[in-house]
Amino acid sequence: MKIGILRVGEAPAKVLERLLENLSGVFPESECQLISVAFALPNQAFDKARGQYRSDIILGVVRDYAYKTEAFNRVLGVVNVDIYVPGLNFVFGEAECPGKAAVISLWRLRPEFYGKPPNFEVFVERATKEAVHELGHTFGLVHCINPFCVMYFSNSIFETDRKKSLFCNKCYSKFQMSLV
Ligand SMILES: [Zn+2]
Ligand SMILES: [Zn+2]
Repeated sequence: MKIGILRVGEAPAKVLERLLENLSGVFPESECQLISVAFALPNQAFDKARGQYRSDIILGVVRDYAYKTEAFNRVLGVVNVDIYVPGLNFVFGEAECPGKAAVISLWRLRPEFYGKPPNFEVFVERATKEAVHELGHTFGLVHCINPFCVMYFSNSIFETDRKKSLFCNKCYSKFQMSLV
């Protein structure tokens, strides 16, 4: 299993490197790699009135790449802009369930977004949780009712902080089954 991290727009290298390390820890049987090509944010995804980007359109860009390349079984797009889907104020990420493509946004993961002092470790931890969550969807996992499981749906940063970056036992066995 090979997981590629794809920068879409201006995601900072420092956080991508840490994300890579952490994903290798959560998915030890897979090889994680930074994809050297970077994609621009699709202009048509930007909603001027909201000042946000449509995550489904960005996911489309990641999906196009994910199905074209044979180098990766999963591709995780990372953006540094605020994203949404129609009907929701914002999303932390979106993924095919199941599929090969996922996307996460770093925008609402920094403590500064909530008026708190910057904390890189907290930021990286949050990005890891959202990345594992969206990748979990690509393995066909749905939302879990266990608030500490990474597959719990976070509607707020509080819920992201409360959950762990790992699958609960039930989700982990579903994940294992998806691999066979
Ligand atoms: Zn989800
Ligand atoms: Zn679970």
